[in-house]
Amino acid sequence: NKQVILKDYVSGNPKESDMYVTTSSIKLKVPQGSKAVLLKNLYLSCDPYLRIRMGRIQGSNVFTSFTPGSPLSGFGVAKVLDSGHPEFKEGDLIWGTTGWEEYSLITEPEQFFKIHHTNVPLSYYTGLLGMPGMTAFAGFHEVCSPKKGDRVFISAAAGAVGQLVGQFAKLMGCYVVGSVGSVGSKEKVDLLKNKLGFDEAFNYKEEQDLDAALKRHFPEGIDIYFENVGGKMLDAVLLNMRPHGQISVCGLISHYNLNQPQGFSNLLSLIYNRIRMEGFVVFDYFHLYPNFLDMVIPYIREGKRVYLEDITQGLESAPAALVGLFSGRNVGKQVVLASHE
Ligand code: NDP
Repeated sequence: NKQVILKDYVSGNPKESDMYVTTSSIKLKVPQGSKAVLLKNLYLSCDPYLRIRMGRIQGSNVFTSFTPGSPLSGFGVAKVLDSGHPEFKEGDLIWGTTGWEEYSLITEPEQFFKIHHTNVPLSYYTGLLGMPGMTAFAGFHEVCSPKKGDRVFISAAAGAVGQLVGQFAKLMGCYVVGSVGSVGSKEKVDLLKNKLGFDEAFNYKEEQDLDAALKRHFPEGIDIYFENVGGKMLDAVLLNMRPHGQISVCGLISHYNLNQPQGFSNLLSLIYNRIRMEGFVVFDYFHLYPNFLDMVIPYIREGKRVYLEDITQGLESAPAALVGLFSGRNVGKQVVLASHE
């Protein structure tokens, strides 16, 4: 059983060498009398929160640290090879939290979602039809109250979550701008404008002054900011929010590798402009998953939804794929193909 193992707790920027790939043995059978399921992992999802779990976590009621010397785990798509659980049978396809390994024995399979719609790429269940899709849906439609004509800004806009928020906002009739960090090329900027339907996009790595960049795109200010990055971007956004604007705090990826917390200069704007800024955790919204599927599956069938994926091949590629999230190497949802069905 090939596995991706965490070497030790990570501090600062994650490196490929923080993980290694090894092989151990596993019985390809669920033990007699157990309610576990044995999975063959097909697609593994690279998500920024995995970096948080690679460090020593203190004071979080959402995440626990990974154990050094053990495989990482995260969202994935898998096939049931054997089951002692009455709700799962051999051949079922599921998505949920599984190991970064070829085969996983999962003792609490109740957390899994069964995959019923199989006429879409299965990898979509790590992105559009999985946790990031639910994140975009909950963070935009449940945390904010968007309406036609709203001016919406999204950071990390070409990623797993951001690309969907932009498309949800366009479907609502909003004016949508995204920021991305294409290095040395306009690739992500072009994708946003030409493939994902954003009205405008800019490369934050090429802007000397983020406040000026935002004023250029939002001369009348921002109604909704979908926050994925934090840091200097959030500080600049605070200077450009319209009165009674909303900030949905989804993620703060620029903070995950910092050993010291980041300070902000422009928080008074929250008060002066009566801004509502709200963080959320997608797990609190998983009960809405069936409604989300009902909404999004027809969009896919009608071709109203584009979803960019960046799929690397094999568990050996997983450490580099995960680390790449922090330099923006991924274009779209970063997925690892662990094994073929
Ligand atoms: P992405 O697919 O967007 O990948 C991460 C992207 O972040 C990179 O491609 C890069 O894009 C950008 N990035 C990396 N480092 C920095 C930095 N220092 N400053 C600015 N941008 C950076 O990831 P996801 O869509 O999966 O996640 C987006 C955010 O949503 C993350 O913050 C994540 O933690 C959060 N999240 C929150 C959830 C919740 O329940 N609240 C659930 C799921 C995700 P670029 O090239 O544009 O720089």
